[in-house]
Amino acid sequence: MIKRILIANRGEIAHRIIKACRELNITSIAIYSEADKNSLHVRRADEAYLIGPPPANESYLNKEKIIELAKKVKADAIHPGYGFLSENYEFIELVEKSGIIFIGPSSASVKLMGGKTEARTLMKQNNVPIVPGTTEPISNIEEGKKIAKEIGYPIMLKAVSGGGGKGMRKVFSQQEFENAFNLATSESKKAFGNSEVYIEKYIENPKHIEVQILADKHGNYLHLFERECSVQRRHQKVIEEAPSITINENIRKKITQTAIQAAKACNYYNAGTIEFLLDKNKNFYFLEMNTRLQVEHPVTEMITGFDIVKEQIKIAEGKELSIKQEDLNIFGHAIECRIYAEDVENNFSPSTGKITLHRLTSGPGIRIERGIDVSSDVPIYYDPMLAKVIAWGSNREEAIARMKRALSEYQICGVITNIPFYKWILSQEEFLDGSFDINFIENKFIPLI
Ligand code: ADP
Repeated sequence: MIKRILIANRGEIAHRIIKACRELNITSIAIYSEADKNSLHVRRADEAYLIGPPPANESYLNKEKIIELAKKVKADAIHPGYGFLSENYEFIELVEKSGIIFIGPSSASVKLMGGKTEARTLMKQNNVPIVPGTTEPISNIEEGKKIAKEIGYPIMLKAVSGGGGKGMRKVFSQQEFENAFNLATSESKKAFGNSEVYIEKYIENPKHIEVQILADKHGNYLHLFERECSVQRRHQKVIEEAPSITINENIRKKITQTAIQAAKACNYYNAGTIEFLLDKNKNFYFLEMNTRLQVEHPVTEMITGFDIVKEQIKIAEGKELSIKQEDLNIFGHAIECRIYAEDVENNFSPSTGKITLHRLTSGPGIRIERGIDVSSDVPIYYDPMLAKVIAWGSNREEAIARMKRALSEYQICGVITNIPFYKWILSQEEFLDGSFDINFIENKFIPLI
C-alpha cells in the first residue's frame, strides 16, 4: 500500500497530484527550490522540503538528491508529473533500485520509447504505421540526400533525441539539404547533447491526434479515447480538446486499437499517450509515445468522468485496472487552454514577477488546474505555465461558449498572460468549424503581430 508520495515536480501538476493523494488518503510530500518558497504546491502539500537552489539542474532535476530525500522522509512512491525527470530512464532506474515505487512505467519501457528512431523501429516491427522515413539516424549528407529524394520533398530532419517541439527542420529541395543537415545536426547537439538526426516525410496540413492509454502490471490494457491537439505554435500544443471532431467512429476504433498495440509493443504499464499525425486522406501515422502523464489529461478526464492520476497510483501499487473498456463512454466535449505568463505581442517572451491579483473563474462546466495564487512568484527558471482552464459542455459549441465566458472572467495581475491570444483563437472561423490544422497559428496569427 502506498501511504506517502513524494512529488518530484512543481506548479499546477504538483498541485493536481496533491489533490489525488488527498482523495486517496495518502500523505503528499512536496519538494521545492529556493525560487518556489511561496508556491502553492508547497502550501497545499502535507509536507514540503527544500531541495536546492533555483536552477532546475540543482533542484527539480537533481536525481540523486531527490531519491536521497525520498528515502529520508520515508516516501513509499515518487510521482514525477510531466517534464523534469518524468521520462528520464536513468532516474527511473535509480528509483527502481532504491526500492521506492515509481508512479509511471518501467525504466525499460521509457528507454525503448525514448529515442525516436528506436521507437520507430519497434513500431514498424509491430505493424504500427509510422510517418514514412528512416528508422536509423542519417550518417552523412550524401546518404541523406539519396533517401530524401526517394521519399520525396518536402521532408523533415528531426533530432533523434528531440522533444518539446524543438530539433525539427523542414527541407523543401535537394539544393537546401546540405545546409539544413548541417544546421539540424549542430542544433540537435546543442539542445539535446546528441547530433543524430533522421528523416521523416513532411505531412502536409495534418491534424495531431493522440490516444490516452492505461495499462496495469497484469497485462490489461485500455484506452480513454483520443484528444485533438492541432492548435499548435512552433510544434507545441496551444489548445487541446476531446473528443476530436475530425475523426469518425471507424477511425476512432482503428487509432485506439493501434495505440494499444503500440503500448503492448513496449510492455507498457501505467498512463501513457500515443501521438499520431492524421493526413488529409485520414491516414494516421505514429509520431511518438509520451511515457508519462500529459499536460492535457484533464480533457480526457472530463469526457470520461475518470480520474487518471488516482488510477496511476493504484496501478503503481500493483492493482488491476479499476474499469473495463466497455464501461467507458465519451460524454460531451472538453477543451483546455494553457494560461502562460507570456507577452504574446512581444514574440511570446516570458513575463516574470509576483502575482498581485488572482481572481478565479468557476461556474458550470469549468475546471481550473493552477500552480499559482495571489502573492506567488513567477520565476524565470521554469516553464511559465500558470494554470489550465478546462471547459466541459454537452457539445463542442457549449464547451467553447463556456471557455469564452471563463476567460472573460479570469483575472491575473502582476504578470502578462496569454489570455487575449485564446480569445482570438476561440473566435476564428477555422477553429469554430474545425478546419484548422497544425499550421493554423503560424499562417493566421503570426502575420498579425
Ligand atoms: P516533439 O517530441 O518535439 O514534441 P513530435 O515528433 O511529437 O516532436 O512532433 C511535434 C509536432 O511537430 C507535431 O504535432 C506536428 O505538428 C509537427 N510534426 C512532427 N513531425 C512532423 C512531420 N513529419 N510532418 C509534419 N509535421 C510534423
